[in-house]
Amino acid sequence: MGLTQIKHAARLLSLGQLSKICVWLHELIRRAEDSDRTERPPSRKGTLAERTLDNKTYRLESIRCGKENCKCMRGKLHGPYWYSYTRVGNKVTSQYIGKRIPKALEKKIGSRSE
Ligand SMILES: [Zn+2]
Repeated sequence: MGLTQIKHAARLLSLGQLSKICVWLHELIRRAEDSDRTERPPSRKGTLAERTLDNKTYRLESIRCGKENCKCMRGKLHGPYWYSYTRVGNKVTSQYIGKRIPKALEKKIGSRSE
């Protein structure tokens, strides 16, 4: 069936039927968008740079906050921000640093991507 025929058929429907189709169409579109999304890497974060110093790993990351309707869900991620990851035993703790790493630390690890 072509789109024109579907439109013709839709004109014959009652308001109740039309709103049911409307809900159904939105559901269909949402699912199509979802499957579109899963083709991208599943990772919540994008790592732009990584540095290791002593027992810490510093990462410059773009963040997806996970909120619906947020700009990050459309690919405009937050940040990037620096985080430090420290491994203690088999536990990894992360700490937010900020948009820039402190000058003293920057000297040690360098802030530019190589
Ligand atoms: Zn967000």
